[in-house]
Amino acid sequence: MLLIGAPGAGKGTQSARLQRDYGFAALSSGDLLRRHVAQNTPVGRQAADFMSRGELVPDSLMIRLLVTELASMQEEQDSAGAVPNGAGWLLDGFPRNRVQAESLDKTLAAGESPLNLVVSLNVPDEVILERILSRWVHAPSGRVYNLGYNPPLRSGLDDVTGEPLTQRPDDNADVFRARMRAFRETTEPLLEHYERQGVLVKLHGETSDVIYDQLRQSPPP
Ligand code: AMP
Repeated sequence: MLLIGAPGAGKGTQSARLQRDYGFAALSSGDLLRRHVAQNTPVGRQAADFMSRGELVPDSLMIRLLVTELASMQEEQDSAGAVPNGAGWLLDGFPRNRVQAESLDKTLAAGESPLNLVVSLNVPDEVILERILSRWVHAPSGRVYNLGYNPPLRSGLDDVTGEPLTQRPDDNADVFRARMRAFRETTEPLLEHYERQGVLVKLHGETSDVIYDQLRQSPPP
């Protein structure tokens, strides 16, 4: 399954709920990159400037990174035996353009793990900007909080670990505009690609609760 949505549309939130409720193994390309940046790895050093400008990281780097991660996620699932409820894996934030989508198609065609659901998350733009500005994250896990409607139990601290929350450096109005532009120009057109494959479901709502209710009722098309 893939989650596709503008920055701030709630991909991370929906992913966390699906993992909690259905046992999906999930991979967020943004979280993965942020871990590389935090650990100052060669990948992190190559990606950091693109991310701070709100631009897409080059495809060659992204594809290598994601295909490797996806393969190891698949291996873990295989060695763990059957996944509860028949759930599979979930990608959030990848693919972001046509080259990445075609590379994912090829990778999946070579394996035994077909894509059977692509969910497009649609939230009004004015709601999204407000969300981005009041979003705090627990960087090591990717857990997301919103000071308005989903605050942490203790101010400034992650509910699970008690560690401090931070704001993403790209969650500011200027970088947000660049991220939104990248989404509209290169990611949104991918929806047609998945519509043609007959796997696309489009969900709309102003809150993650409303969207999650629809998501739970969305069988593969
Ligand atoms: P996200 O957490 O999904 O909003 O991603 C944060 C940033 O990481 C993006 O603005 C991009 O700079 C980079 N990024 C994440 N996923 C990708 C991808 N699939 N391709 C290129 N860049 C990506």
